[in-house]
Amino acid sequence: MKSQDIRSQFLSFFEEKKHSIVPSAPMVLKDDPTLMFVNSGMAPFKEYFLGHAQPKNNRIADSQKCLRVSGKHNDLEEVGYDTYHHTLFEMLGNWSFGDYFKKEAIAWAWELLTEVFKIDKDILYVTVFEGNEEDKLPMDTEAFELWSAFVDRDRILKGNKKDNFWEMGDQGPCGPCSEIHVDIRSAEEKAKIPGKDLVNQDHPQVVEIWNLVFMQYNRKANGSLEPLPNKHIDTGMGFERLCMVLQGVQSNYDTDVFTPIIREVEVITEKKYGVNEAEDVAIRVICDHVRAVAFSIADGQLPSNTGAGYVIRRILRRAVRYGFTFLDKKEPFIFRLVDVLSKKMGDAFPELKTQKQLIENVIKEEEQSFLRTLDQGLVLLNRIVEETSGNTVLGEKAFELYDTYGFPIDLTALILAEKGLHLDEKGFNEELQKQKNRSRAASEMSTDDWTILQQDDVEEFIGYDTLEATVKITRYRKVTSKKEGDMYQLVFNLTPFYPEGGGQVGDKGYLEDPHGDVVYVLDTKKENNVIIHFTKNLPKDVKQTFKAAVDGKQRYRTECNHTATHLLHQALREVLGSHVEQKGSLVRSKHLRFDFSHFSKLTTEELRDVENFVNARIEGRLPLIEKRNVPKEVAIADGALSLFGEKYGDTVRTIRFGSSMELCGGTHVKNTVYIWHFKIVSESAVASGIRRIEAITNDAVKDFYFDHDRVYFKMKEMLNNAQEPVKALHSLQEENSNLKKQIEVLLKDKAKNMKGELEAALTEINGIQFLAKKIDLDASGIKDLAFEMGSKFENLFLLFATEQDGKALLSCYISKPLVSEKGLNAGQVVRELGKYIQGGGGGQPFFATAGGKNPEGIAEALEAAKKFLI
Ligand code: ATP
Ligand code: MG
Repeated sequence: MKSQDIRSQFLSFFEEKKHSIVPSAPMVLKDDPTLMFVNSGMAPFKEYFLGHAQPKNNRIADSQKCLRVSGKHNDLEEVGYDTYHHTLFEMLGNWSFGDYFKKEAIAWAWELLTEVFKIDKDILYVTVFEGNEEDKLPMDTEAFELWSAFVDRDRILKGNKKDNFWEMGDQGPCGPCSEIHVDIRSAEEKAKIPGKDLVNQDHPQVVEIWNLVFMQYNRKANGSLEPLPNKHIDTGMGFERLCMVLQGVQSNYDTDVFTPIIREVEVITEKKYGVNEAEDVAIRVICDHVRAVAFSIADGQLPSNTGAGYVIRRILRRAVRYGFTFLDKKEPFIFRLVDVLSKKMGDAFPELKTQKQLIENVIKEEEQSFLRTLDQGLVLLNRIVEETSGNTVLGEKAFELYDTYGFPIDLTALILAEKGLHLDEKGFNEELQKQKNRSRAASEMSTDDWTILQQDDVEEFIGYDTLEATVKITRYRKVTSKKEGDMYQLVFNLTPFYPEGGGQVGDKGYLEDPHGDVVYVLDTKKENNVIIHFTKNLPKDVKQTFKAAVDGKQRYRTECNHTATHLLHQALREVLGSHVEQKGSLVRSKHLRFDFSHFSKLTTEELRDVENFVNARIEGRLPLIEKRNVPKEVAIADGALSLFGEKYGDTVRTIRFGSSMELCGGTHVKNTVYIWHFKIVSESAVASGIRRIEAITNDAVKDFYFDHDRVYFKMKEMLNNAQEPVKALHSLQEENSNLKKQIEVLLKDKAKNMKGELEAALTEINGIQFLAKKIDLDASGIKDLAFEMGSKFENLFLLFATEQDGKALLSCYISKPLVSEKGLNAGQVVRELGKYIQGGGGGQPFFATAGGKNPEGIAEALEAAKKFLI
């Protein structure tokens, strides 16, 4: 059976059991601070399990894109070495939110596997929770009994808390689970060791395929458990593993999910899969990682230097590295796999088709830049090797290469091994641990349980219509972090505060009690559908009624920028073309930032056209036309722009200004005229094919022009109030460059004279022409001079010192024959003499320099140079 059919059969099976089928949520969730990426099917439904929202249908089934590369689930290092863990995989799931429970979940799982997919019962094992004393939890006998209606009792295995008890996090819903495992070994192998001894033992052919979680408890901050009022079902089945079983192969990579990509790698690299284990690992790594990277770029998560983007960058770099080391690929090639990937998976995930070109460009550019890093790293590593005297390379050095230059440590170890050197891994790991401890200490945080003051089903957001309201606190909790100290998080029955979202910052403002005591709201965020207000202090009496007031000025400026963002989006599509897609936005009170797909730098004319387009709409006094609770399909059919990678509900809000219409949850000005004026302040590249515009509106534009005026008048004054300042500046520049040229000529003359003098000053010591002297030239002048003198003598030892801006510089030149015959080394000379000037340096054996902050020591350093000759 083809993988496409397996996916659709799973979904239609549950559709028949009255489940709503929903598309996969994006891999990056915007309102869950605990997760960098969706790592299991349940993550997008957290708000339902936590009771913060109600689904329309309390039975849902889907196939969710999951990425397990960080945090609690991190399979990255296994990927490629085994045949059944991926970074990105699809998790098939069926969900019950307070609806059916264990009985149906177990019966349906069994029916699907054995009757629909016709998996032989004799290759299946199931597990149930054995109980746990510490938590005073009994064994899950209920599940055991339910399973035994279908499965022989000796195939039902008991498992411990690690494998058979699932928890959302340190706090929150949890419960026992049952896993289903398959044993796909040959009869011969099975005769040797019974399958049940291999369950959960990391055997590549005895693997878990499905996990059924029975959520029935809630874990409190103090660790204790209480029963959940509504019990839920959360199941997750690995799609690629299911395909492996149903297609009768022994590895996920032998299913049709992967074989077309593997074939393509074989063509590109001229290597054959299945011949050599090291190459096979590399091929698996590459085929796996290209999927992870392509899907995340399509979801709007580009590789970058921080956070989720950095994780994506690391995955791609891992793939490049395996190609580089084991498949001998020294130029970009991974981007060439995107074509087959999008053909193969584009039906189920259309984003791979629509964004193919962008994905290819971004991957190619990342590959290029990392290959450059590898090249540079190799040069640096060679230098380290040259400077190493024993046969062990210090962990500290390797760590610097890894941390500062991004050069992978396993490549370092490999190259050193090839050169017969040893890497001090212990030292390296110590450095790594030190770094981890530093960052952990900075991010340590503890969160108390919520104190519930008032049960409230939903916290209503009324901030579209008002900036002030009378509110009550329904719950609060304390959060302590090293960085920010104690903070409080408050939830109200209703709130005018806009929570950060859709690129727009969260509102600030204050809470005032009836006695006039005020607590400031420093930020507002949404977590799993609850609006949280952050304060430094807790109000004196939390049970009071409060006036909640949003900082109106900040909100108004932010609204100007948000509306301008919509107009900018429209302008870009008009001026550049409809290939322009929003790739990210940030709307603050001071400025706005908008990232979008486009392949070249915008010309001055294009930028002017975009600005004019937006300003024409501001002058056109377009009123806000807002519609709430529109069915999503209706809004899209009306022409509203939606963003890929954004999670929308069934009903949406549309925002229109003239012919600009977008799905948007943010706040806007009532009429475009309030924006006053729009000004682009910068245009730049974020990644290949992604541009960024930064712009300002309203007061910020006035400030901008004011500042420009000031600088202009100041400059004019400095140019003696020239009538034509540009011309005046130009002639100054010209004069400057002429002077520079003259100085260069003079310096050359000086060096020539100096050379004669210096040659005359050479003294011979032990057959070596020696000179140690302080001279008045800059670093590059000294270098030129030393090399020129070097071309004349074969036995030269020069030490030059110079002083500039209160700093000292030593440069040492040693003729190559002296290096090889007498073992002299300029690097070593400057390192030792560097002590006198309180500094250090290095270089090559025939030329090296050291800088230091103590010019007083120059005389001593020059004096000490002689000792190297004796
Ligand atoms: P394993 O022990 O094999 O790593 P798990 O206990 O981490 O599995 P769950 O968290 O229960 O798995 O996830 C549910 C299902 O998702 C698993 O039964 C498996 O089929 C699949 N799965 C989990 N991790 C991966 C992965 N890295 N790649 C592919 N499929 C996976
Ligand atoms: Mg796992």
